[in-house]
Parts: sequence; C-alpha cells; structure tokens
Amino acid sequence: MSEANPNGCEVRELDIVIVGAGIAGCYMLYKSRELRLEAQVFEAGDGVGGTWYWNRYPGARCDIESMEYSYQFDKELQQEWEWTERYASQPEILAYINHVADRHDLRKDIQFETRVTSAHFDEGDARWTVETDRGDRVRACFVVMATGCLSSANTPDFPGLHDFAGETYHTGRWPHEGVDFTGKRVGVIGTGSSGIQSIPIIAKQAEHLTVFQRTPNYSVPAHNGPLDPEVQKRVKADYDGLRDRNREVPFGAFADVEGAEESALEASPEERDGHYERWWENGGLTFLVSYGDLMFDPAANITAAEFAQRKIREVVKDPAVAELLVPDQTIGCKRLCADTGYFEAYNRPNVSLVDVRKAPIQEITPEGLLTSDAEFELDAIVFATGFDAMTGALLSIDIRGRDGVSLAEAWSEGPRCYLGLQSAGFPNLFTITGPGSPSVLSNMIPSIEQHVEWIADCIAYLRANGKSQIEATVEAQNDWIDHVNEVADMTLYRGCNSWYLGANVPGKPQVFMPYIGVPAYLAKCNEVVANGYEGFATR
Ligand code: FAD
Ligand code: NAP
Repeated sequence: MSEANPNGCEVRELDIVIVGAGIAGCYMLYKSRELRLEAQVFEAGDGVGGTWYWNRYPGARCDIESMEYSYQFDKELQQEWEWTERYASQPEILAYINHVADRHDLRKDIQFETRVTSAHFDEGDARWTVETDRGDRVRACFVVMATGCLSSANTPDFPGLHDFAGETYHTGRWPHEGVDFTGKRVGVIGTGSSGIQSIPIIAKQAEHLTVFQRTPNYSVPAHNGPLDPEVQKRVKADYDGLRDRNREVPFGAFADVEGAEESALEASPEERDGHYERWWENGGLTFLVSYGDLMFDPAANITAAEFAQRKIREVVKDPAVAELLVPDQTIGCKRLCADTGYFEAYNRPNVSLVDVRKAPIQEITPEGLLTSDAEFELDAIVFATGFDAMTGALLSIDIRGRDGVSLAEAWSEGPRCYLGLQSAGFPNLFTITGPGSPSVLSNMIPSIEQHVEWIADCIAYLRANGKSQIEATVEAQNDWIDHVNEVADMTLYRGCNSWYLGANVPGKPQVFMPYIGVPAYLAKCNEVVANGYEGFATR
C-alpha cells in the first residue's frame, strides 16, 4: 500500500525504520534482515561508524581494550580481525565498522546524509510516519532509535562565537581532512576525555596552546602500545568465555583483570599505595576496580583520589599549575579518563592553563576569548565541550506517540524509560542504550548487541503470537526508574556535576540517567522475557 507524500512521491511502507548507522544501527539492520523485515536506515553522516565517524580529533581512541570493544555476533569476524593496539585508535575502529558494513552488505539499506526530523505514531493503523530533512516520508510498524548516547555535540552558546575571525572545531564534529595547527595559537575548551586525549597532540603542533579548564579531571595513563600477539591468541582461544565472564561483572568489561573484592580501608596505607601503584601501571579505567568499594564508600574513594592527586603533583613541574590540575571531586563520579602524556603536556613551554571556574569565559571576541579577568588572542578554538548526552539526539527529533504527546513533553522533567528500551506512550518505538540501561556505564558494544538482540527477539515474539504492538506500561516504567535511582543512591556517582546527570548542559533536568550494574540488568531483561514481556502491554 502506498500514498503520495506532500512532494508527490510515493510513501514507502516498511516494517522497520532504524535511525543511525553507528555500531547499534548497523547491527540492528543485520538482525532485521535475519527476521526478513523490510528495513531502512537513515544516517545523518555520509558513512557508517557513528561516534567513530564523527570524532576524528587527534588522539581519539577507545579506553576499553580493543579485544573487548568489538562485536561478538559474528564469530568468524571476531577470530579474523587483528587489532593492532591495546586500545584501538579512531581510524582503526572506523575501518573495522566499514569492514562489517561491507562484509554484510549493509550499505544498500542505509540512506546517508539524511537526518530524521520527525516520527509520528498513527493510532488508527499503529504505524509510525517518519520524515527526513531530504523530504523522505516512510511508514513503518517499528522504529528503532540507534541515535547514540554521545552523538549530539554540545557547543556552549558563548556570546560572540559567530564573530570569531579564526577557526572553530568541536571534537565530535572533526573535519575529515584533519587540521594542521602548526604555527597557530590554539585554545582548547574542556578537559574531559576528548580534551585529555587531544591536548598532548595539539600541544606538539601548535605554536602555543591555551587550555581553558572549568573542572579538573582524573586521568590514569592508558599505557597504550602494540597489542601483544600472545594476548590476542589467548583471548581468541576462548573468546566466548571472555564475553560470558564480562556479562558477570558490573561494567561488562575487564573480567579477566582480577578486580579486588576487598575494601580499600582494610589495607595499611603502605599496602594500599603498593596496590594502587600496580593498578596505575596496568593503566586505564581498571584503576577503579582496584578495590571493591571505591564507588561505594567515600572514605575508600578518598584513598584512591589522593593517590591520583599525588601522581599529578609528581608529573607537573610547576606547583601552581599542578594545583590547578588536581581535581577535588570523587574519583570516578565523572567518567574517569585514560591518557597518553596528558599531565606531561603542561610541562611544555608552549602550553598554558587557564582556570575558567575562577574566571569564567565571558565571550568569544573576533581575536580570541575573553574571561572575566583576561583576554587571550587565538587563531583557532577547539571545543572539547562534550555532548548533550543520552537524550540530546532523541529530543532533537520531533517524536510524537499516543495522543500526539511529544517525547519532549513526556521527558520534560528528565527521561522516562522502561529498561532504557521503551518509553510508555510510544508503542513500537525502541531506543538502543536508552536512559535507564547500563549504556555509558558499561562496555558499550556488548550492551548495544544485547539491546539489538532483545528488540529483534521481541519483534519475532510479536509476530509469532499474532500481535502487532508492544508498549511499556507506566507502572513498570515508574518502578524501573525508582530502581535506577535506588541503585545510583547506593553509589558515589551522583556526587559531582557530570553529564551522567545532565549537569553539563544549561537548563537540562538533572536526573541520573544510566543504570549501574550489567549483571542485574541482564537478569532483569531475561526475566521480563521469561514472564511474557512483563511490564509491557501487547496487543
Ligand atoms: P553512535 O555511534 O553515536 O551512532 C549514532 C548515529 O546516529 C550517528 O552516526 C548519528 O549521525 C546518527 N543520528 C543521530 N541522530 C540522527 C537523526 N536524527 N537522523 C539520522 N541519523 C542520526 N564506549 C565504550 O564502551 N568504550 C570506549 O572506549 C568509548 N570511547 C568513546 C570515545 C568517544 C570519543 C566517544 C564520543 C564515545 C565513546 N564511547 C565509548 C561511547 C560510544 O558512543 C559507543 O561505544 C558506541 O560507539 C555508540 O554506538 P551507537 O551506534 O549507539 O551510537
Ligand atoms: P565531557 O566529558 O563532557 O567534557 C567536556 C568538558 O568541557 C568538561 O571539562 C567541561 O567542564 C567542559 N565544558 C563544557 N561546557 C563548558 C563551558 N561552558 N565552559 C567551560 N568548560 C566547559 O565531554 P568529552 O570529553 O567529549 O567526553 C564525553 C564522553 O565521551 C566521555 O565521558 C566518554 O564516555 C566518551 N569519550 C571517551 C573517550 C575515550 O577515551 N575512549 C574519549 C572521548 C570521549 P565541566 O566538567 O566543568 O562541565
């Protein structure tokens, strides 16, 4: 069946529309084909890869080890693919996703350079009408938002931004041809993971680099390097075993790095320091599992925080600069960073640090940047200012569900989702790694695969049982949100102005968005299915 759209073109009838062609959208397309669904993917960029397509800034790489940050659905690929580094770089991950797209011939169902602008539910025939900025209008039974948790770039609305005479860049929208900062006076705003990865490299190129820091961050050396062939061989000999073990640990990664169960407070200060030193040498995010209670007990957390603070003072030669770089918040409650030479960069004569917590940025001038106590002349400004995380990409689409209610209205006080998979009032609309799922507090590729498989199984179940609609109930959703909050309250994650809470975007409701704990989450998802999609209404 078809009808004419306002442009006079035929409106295509589909089974499923998938928005986004990152790791999530690509796999959702693969699974849709397995179910023989007629599927169409719309992707704003001109290639696959999502995060790894957009974030081409110098130094971009993953901070979950490459052997674990990869798909597991294609067992042959998992054996064949050879990662070259312990932590894969952005170009390598992008090459990997492109390989997956070629291997499974995905591109023919992906329409690139097309942004979905609206998705409206028609209660009459239980179909979604999806429109794009290219004038497409399609109708489908199911819509899957694979739009990404960290895909909506956040550029603060500084007065004068558009009058700046130099170049501006956002780390999450980096030019494909790269940027040469040689001979330039560069300013980087932001010291989260993106800033911390790019600053050491930009520092080597620029004539002068000024870093504008609002909140200092903790970072553990990544100790990246070529991937040991022996490690690769060992993992591949029991890849499924590693994936299974990862499902049993809270972050869904690092299962084979033996995290300590015991309290940091049980050890003597000397034992503790030796212990932290070994974890520091191991490198990266695993530092947070060096003791079992670091994210639960403030006194335990302080021991790790003080160790990390000492490391900064040891590396940074100018004591005043070191003090500015030392964070004063709970370690881990903002995403811990993994770096290569970050703090060392501040020992370079061409790098200076400006505290914009004390003297906030007031405006961008044609020549540079003005804080409340100084002016800085710049040729280029890099915004390493992060993302409107978890909800930004979803809320920028005009999504309207039952009774014409918009997602923006339904989420006006913060996102409301059941299991991060569906929002009540929006039948047959699924979110991959939506709010209330482990998502950004987990190794994201396995979390994405679990969501895609759950959604695909759900659609297969509906078809097998002669049903056409599924929708989260308000009761189940409310109970789940209460549970997400109860779990967060048992931890130290709420203790700082993180993007997990939406605190980085002015005016955004502050709600703790991710669910903490992969194993409990997986058990709940499986239980819901075993109980006939408990908490969802089907018809
Ligand atoms: P994305 O990769 O964000 O893809 C979403 C896609 O949807 C994008 O291509 C976007 O263009 C498209 N899209 C959005 N809205 C629309 C629309 N309206 N119409 C059409 N298309 C749309 N996670 C980890 O687990 N480990 C890591 O080490 C790690 N490192 C990261 C490093 C960086 C720099 C960043 C930014 C994130 C990192 N992440 C990491 C998180 C990362 O986002 C996920 O691991 C994963 O790549 C997300 O895949 P996705 O497909 O869900 O979303
Ligand atoms: P981010 O962690 O949100 O950091 C943004 C930075 O910009 C913060 O330092 C923030 O300061 C600052 N900022 C924002 N608005 C500002 C303003 N108006 N004035 C001054 N400073 C401002 O963003 P990100 O670094 O892009 O990282 C986002 C997430 O992506 C990470 O947490 C991680 O999950 C993922 N990521 C991972 C890697 C990796 O290593 N694999 C690399 C990059 C990104 P405040 O802290 O004060 O808000």
